[in-house]
Amino acid sequence: MIKKKKIGVLGGGQLGMFLCIAAKRIGKEITVYSESSEFSAEKFANNYFIGKYLDFSKMDKFLNEVDLVTIETENIPLDTLHYINKKKPLFPSLFAIEKAQHRDKEKEFLNVVVGLRTANYRLINSYSDLLEAFNDFEKKTIIKSCEQGYDGKNQYTINSQNINEFRNFNFNDFIAEEIVEFKKEISVIVYRDIYGNVMNYPPVENNHKDKILSETIFPAKINKKSHEKAICYAKRIICSLNMVGLLAVEMFLLKNNDIIINELAPRPHNSGHWTLDCCDLNQFDNLILTICGYKVQQPKINTPRCKMINIIGENYNKINNFKDYKFYDYYKKKVLPKRKMGHLIKKFE
Ligand code: AMP
Repeated sequence: MIKKKKIGVLGGGQLGMFLCIAAKRIGKEITVYSESSEFSAEKFANNYFIGKYLDFSKMDKFLNEVDLVTIETENIPLDTLHYINKKKPLFPSLFAIEKAQHRDKEKEFLNVVVGLRTANYRLINSYSDLLEAFNDFEKKTIIKSCEQGYDGKNQYTINSQNINEFRNFNFNDFIAEEIVEFKKEISVIVYRDIYGNVMNYPPVENNHKDKILSETIFPAKINKKSHEKAICYAKRIICSLNMVGLLAVEMFLLKNNDIIINELAPRPHNSGHWTLDCCDLNQFDNLILTICGYKVQQPKINTPRCKMINIIGENYNKINNFKDYKFYDYYKKKVLPKRKMGHLIKKFE
């Protein structure tokens, strides 16, 4: 098959930026489509378009420039994805993005089609639905919007103290989820090429603060059985999605060592940034290789341990406190609370 060369990326944040850097090394060209006029990938892309995802005349100009399209975020309007899908190959598939961008569809797919477990949950449309879920889930629950809910956005932890405050809340397209008493949060990144080969990075351990990823530790300190189970689940999901590309699977390791799935990201993921320094081919390289038609292999890892720390707006002035860490700047013009500004990485012997 003829290997594709010109890649279009929807979104130009830090994930798009790292994709541009990887593409240059592999000899591919990237054109970014960004909704925002200030975006991290600006200096790294071969070309870019700034416009709304629903501006189809701008989208046409972008599509004319590229051989295929991929994403750095699953939060793209479905109308846009359908439009693109008719004109250029889209990776991951529309099916995979559709599942991953809507929590109810995603969880139904995982529980019913893949046969894995998620936290118990239900759709809620009113305060009385919330009360019912709250009582069933032992008087605590997390409510989450089905769409546009990344980094803790549109998520609220409900307890007996604050439930009254939600009487007049707009419950349009929300779920209520049982709070899981997990031992650890882990994630596994898998990637699949057009020949059906599925490879994986090893499971990593993720710590969150205020529902935002604060650090990732490689390798996850989990037993061999959990390690194998986590990889097996992630591979099962990417195969069930019949997806070509890269998929991050966030999981909860429970106290009894069961693993349940939290969420899917069919694109590069923050918990995979350690691969930039510690692998022969990082998550961005392998995404590009899969979607451009190359056969992929297992990554070779060059360190026994490493730690990635996210720098959000609140901590941007504390970078110098981290001696011996390498800093990656995301070149964001405005420093805002909770905004991911960069990350730090350190390898340990
Ligand atoms: P999410 O956006 O669903 O990944 O949630 C962000 C973070 O909130 C997760 O990484 C967990 O730390 C926490 N969280 C989400 N759902 C649950 C749950 N059902 N039980 C306990 N913690 C959760």
